[in-house]
Amino acid sequence: MENASADNTQLSPATVVVAAARPARRQGSPVNPPITISSTYHNMGAPDGSMLYARWTNESWHPAEDLIGRLENAKNPALLHASGMAAVANALHLAPAGSTIIMPRHAYHASLLVAHDRASREGGRVCEVDIADTAAVISAIEETSAGMVWIESPTNPMLEIADIPALAAAAHAAGALVGVDNTFATPLGQNPLNQGADVVIHSATKYLSGHSDVVLGATVTNNEELHLRLQDERTESGGIAGPFSAWLLLRGMRTLSLRMERIWENAAELARRLDTHPLVAEVSHPSLESHAQHERAKELMRCFGGVLTMRPVGGVAAAEDLGQFTEIWLPATSLGGVESSFERRRRFPTEAPTVPEDLIRVSVGIEDVEDLWRDMDRALHAVHGRAAH
Ligand SMILES: *Cc1c(COP(=O)(O)O)cnc(C)c1O
Repeated sequence: MENASADNTQLSPATVVVAAARPARRQGSPVNPPITISSTYHNMGAPDGSMLYARWTNESWHPAEDLIGRLENAKNPALLHASGMAAVANALHLAPAGSTIIMPRHAYHASLLVAHDRASREGGRVCEVDIADTAAVISAIEETSAGMVWIESPTNPMLEIADIPALAAAAHAAGALVGVDNTFATPLGQNPLNQGADVVIHSATKYLSGHSDVVLGATVTNNEELHLRLQDERTESGGIAGPFSAWLLLRGMRTLSLRMERIWENAAELARRLDTHPLVAEVSHPSLESHAQHERAKELMRCFGGVLTMRPVGGVAAAEDLGQFTEIWLPATSLGGVESSFERRRRFPTEAPTVPEDLIRVSVGIEDVEDLWRDMDRALHAVHGRAAH
């Protein structure tokens, strides 16, 4: 793999996503990296670091791993994992056995499940906090002598914004590791390694791949020891990426910058309009001044994110019915695709009980914003049996 130029750290991420992670330029060489379909490689004698077996390393992972590492300003390439949850589980495993893990009470529900499961087996503890309440999180870190602080910012689905630099500093002072699930902001929206995180986690299923056609995860760290532990954990657990999925991820990331630009613009515009919609009781998006951490988001992030939440007038029934009336918006779980979608989160029994029953998590895509608005406006009226004005 070749980098675009000697001083490519100066390149804008919009250029990096296109120009990086391509094969070396030689007469007749392909402009895109090939997919290697082989479980094993010609190899004899003592392992010398060359390609050997596809669970240990796989050429088809490297371009996407290089690119994610570059986008996160990391010294190391990222590591691809079989899914976001494989990445989350491996990263949570970095916490010392039996230690306390501090987690946002509105972290991704499966991340909380994994942490609680492990704690109950190993005699550890999970301490759930309001990750936006910096003072409370810092006292929890100190009082529990935490082994790891897990951060999502924005959280899924409540969109709380954490003060990552302050929490990372307090965690390190207490000897705790810091993991940041950066799925919602993407590396274009924030780079937690530059804000003190030890390891960054992505569900590459979401914005990074961006087309709702692949399930993958990634971890990335500047710390050599953690990198090797994550790599060993991946090799041992066997939670690896398939070559085709890795290729789809790279293919998707070529347009990451363009997609995020449109998604962030659409999300902020729709949040602004929905906020005054007569059939929407409550809207949350970090771009809104009414969002409790609007100023913090402005200060710490390069985006406000592509996910917003709303609570329709009419409560749970209205939230459930909405999916019957939209034609463009997809009623579906997941997020981060080019297509706009939404779902009522509490339909999952594992979702946090502090998430309102009628809360709809909205993933805004790249469609024309006027079409999205008309479709949603019409559907909101249809739920109440009224025609749109
Ligand atoms: C979806 C998601 C995950 C899990 O990723 P999968 O690819 O579905 O395994 C983890 N964290 C966050 C914030 C997510 O949104």
